[in-house]
Amino acid sequence: MPTPTDLLYDCAIIGGGVAGLTLALQLAQAGRRVVLFEKETYPFHRVCGEYISMENYDFLCRIGVPLAEMDLPRMTHFTVSSPSGVALHHRLDIGGLGISRYVLDQLLARLATQHGALIQEGTRVTDVVFTGDEFTLSTAEGGTYRARIACGAWGKHANLDSKLHRAYLEPSRHARQFVAVKRHLENIDFPEAMVEMHNFRDGYCGLSPVAGGLTNCSYISDVRNLRAHGNNVAEMERQVLMQNPLLRPYLEAAHRQGTPPIVISQITFRERSTVESHVLMLGDAAGTIAPLAGNGMSMGMNASYLLHGLLLEFFEGRLSRAELEQCYTRAWRRLLSLRITAGRLLHQVFGSPPLTTAGIQVLKRLPFMTDIILKLTHGRAY
Ligand SMILES: Cc1cc2nc3c(=O)[nH]c(=O)nc-3n(C[C@H](O)[C@H](O)[C@H](O)COP(=O)(O)OP(=O)(O)OC[C@H]3O[C@@H](n4cnc5c(N)ncnc54)[C@H](O)[C@@H]3O)c2cc1C
Repeated sequence: MPTPTDLLYDCAIIGGGVAGLTLALQLAQAGRRVVLFEKETYPFHRVCGEYISMENYDFLCRIGVPLAEMDLPRMTHFTVSSPSGVALHHRLDIGGLGISRYVLDQLLARLATQHGALIQEGTRVTDVVFTGDEFTLSTAEGGTYRARIACGAWGKHANLDSKLHRAYLEPSRHARQFVAVKRHLENIDFPEAMVEMHNFRDGYCGLSPVAGGLTNCSYISDVRNLRAHGNNVAEMERQVLMQNPLLRPYLEAAHRQGTPPIVISQITFRERSTVESHVLMLGDAAGTIAPLAGNGMSMGMNASYLLHGLLLEFFEGRLSRAELEQCYTRAWRRLLSLRITAGRLLHQVFGSPPLTTAGIQVLKRLPFMTDIILKLTHGRAY
């Protein structure tokens, strides 16, 4: 009986967030031999606004996620405010659902396993090397695995980025660094159909409902805000975020409830490559969209859908490796780079208090502009 390390996998996927898990699930459903490595153990919480745009609804249902039975809050409207509390209220174009990543990621991992994928939880990949037309992956736990294809779905920042000498890590005077924080608030009477996005100096905080009566409160801030307050999250919140009068009551509730926040750092929005040393990148590892656009998960799932189709052609011998890499890079750019650019521009405007206030005043007078911006940051059903 061969052990998992004796086999040659069709595809090895590094990282079990939405991008990696949906790719593993689709390839397993197509009968391919897949292994996915996730350094954590499901279920676990992660920093994310947990708003899934409706453009993913059909896709998620098709791959087996029973969304209709999950009784999830559906968001149809949003409020965005400037640091001084000037607010715009608008309808969301297609809207979205609130689903905790604690639930979603575990569900996807279970579905992938049921379809025959091997999910190696608690397993951290330390190296991935391409030689003789196959990949060898080493793990911190000691196993070595072989695969015809390796996919990098390891998120915004991981050990393997340095290992592969990725260009986006090169020092740059202009590159800004961000920290991101998430909490689930309980019993705060948040309106079910609403997403709120409140700006503060060099950052913004989103609030939206997730199932189980919880409200997701997550934000991204320039790391300078944190450093200026002695690396103390609560103090930064008091001195910077709570200056926005519409955000203050939520953070006061968070401090009263005392749930410890999850914090991640070293976030950048610099451009990244979609192929690195023959490893095919997807999700945040291929390009990170500003959270303001609320669509990072969609981009990861869109990429997994695109990539799974091309991989099946490769496995069936209709694409060479070079063709696969070129087709994926071109198709990824066509599908997603406009959104990333739009998200980046928005992110810059919303970092600055005067620009945010001016931007919101303009959008209040020209509602069609808000619709255009929403369209630029969202895609179509697939
Ligand atoms: C504050 C904030 C709010 C956001 N809000 C939203 C939102 O409301 N809606 C939305 O769509 N998007 C949102 N996003 C973006 C969204 O969270 C990401 O785009 C999405 O999680 C990316 O998924 P992924 O699968 O690429 O990576 P991840 O979900 O980050 O998963 C990567 C996985 O790889 C694992 N890993 C890393 N290195 C290794 C290794 N060496 N070996 C094994 N495993 C490894 C990690 O443990 C992790 O589980 C938000 C982001 C932030 C920061």
